[in-house]
Amino acid sequence: MNPTPNSRLPLRCWAEIDLAALERNLRLIRASLPAHIRYVAVVKADAYGHGLPQTVARLMHSGADLFAVATLSEATAVRELGPGWPILLLSPLLPEEDRFLADYDLAATVSTAEEVSRFDAVGRQAGKPIAVHLKIDTGMGRLGVWHEQAAELYQKIAAAPHLRLAGVFTHFASPDDDAAFTEEQRRRFLAVLAQCHGIKLNELFVHADNSAGLETMPGASPFNAVRVGLLQFGILPHPNSLLAQVHTEPVFSFRTRVGITKTLPRGTTVSYGRTHTLTRDTTVAVLCAGYGDGIPRAVSNRAQVLIAGQRCPVLGRVTMDQTIVDITGVPSVKCGDEVVLVGRQEKNEISITEFSRWAETIPWETLCSVTKRVPRVYRTTLGV
Ligand SMILES: *Cc1c(COP(=O)(O)O)cnc(C)c1O
Repeated sequence: MNPTPNSRLPLRCWAEIDLAALERNLRLIRASLPAHIRYVAVVKADAYGHGLPQTVARLMHSGADLFAVATLSEATAVRELGPGWPILLLSPLLPEEDRFLADYDLAATVSTAEEVSRFDAVGRQAGKPIAVHLKIDTGMGRLGVWHEQAAELYQKIAAAPHLRLAGVFTHFASPDDDAAFTEEQRRRFLAVLAQCHGIKLNELFVHADNSAGLETMPGASPFNAVRVGLLQFGILPHPNSLLAQVHTEPVFSFRTRVGITKTLPRGTTVSYGRTHTLTRDTTVAVLCAGYGDGIPRAVSNRAQVLIAGQRCPVLGRVTMDQTIVDITGVPSVKCGDEVVLVGRQEKNEISITEFSRWAETIPWETLCSVTKRVPRVYRTTLGV
């Protein structure tokens, strides 16, 4: 969690979070789905770096149905914002964590028979049933019970007196680029459901990782919920999925300011990554942000930033507190000017996808890499 920034101090490097855009995104995604599909908001890792409390509060207001998180501390943070909201823990619990399921009224993911007996014991001690979602491994090879043993584990849950089955789900490995394997995973999932005698699917959350589960089986599909992570923040995770046609807007932008500018004369030898001699007079701006803020060192000599609405290339290595850019030909840049690392400025935009490519990573990791030195600044009003 971020330290509370001293809001009286000017901003040097900050992330701007547009909560109104977040709300519009949720409403657009909902509107593109059949009315009975419930919305599972995935808000792990500090809501993908956007700030968990602010993001979750807005999503509660906008009509999410369930919150999915990775860790117990994330789950308790959501619980403090909203008594009564269903919360699903996606990651396995450590044995010492089990009892908090009852204390905070959380749903656990179940992949093993050992978890069934552990959580059943918690329910017995607490005197109330523990909600669980059965996770079925249909080919990811990660969490979940292997699909061939899933019906047996379902029977154990059904027979556990202190558990309440609240959902059943799987995760598609590559919904965007391997349609045949996704189809095979879906077939395995449906085969398990057919073997679970007595399962009441209409009383459960039945979910796969995105809209892929909904696409090809209108009517007959048992899926009645989607888990939405990156897309609600206005970033396209899977270009080929059904939800990719929803025109969401970026919620996150990453900004800093110019520290100093100076002009190095032609012929100067500088060490921007490799030592070289400048072939022209070069004006540089030293920016007030570096890898200590979450600009990956991997973007050294590669990234561009927006200053005065123009793209300016990064020169040399990103350091802990500073990054240097070439502003030759960009008129009248001065100390304090705003610089966009990710986001819009005037008519130009650097998307998080483009920024992540420079760093040879993916938007998920870029968002998780913005450090706690960087205050999140929230815009809350609904736009026109
Ligand atoms: C993180 C996560 C999601 C959300 O994925 P996105 O690609 O960000 O939408 C969905 N399901 C599970 C199990 C996850 O861990």
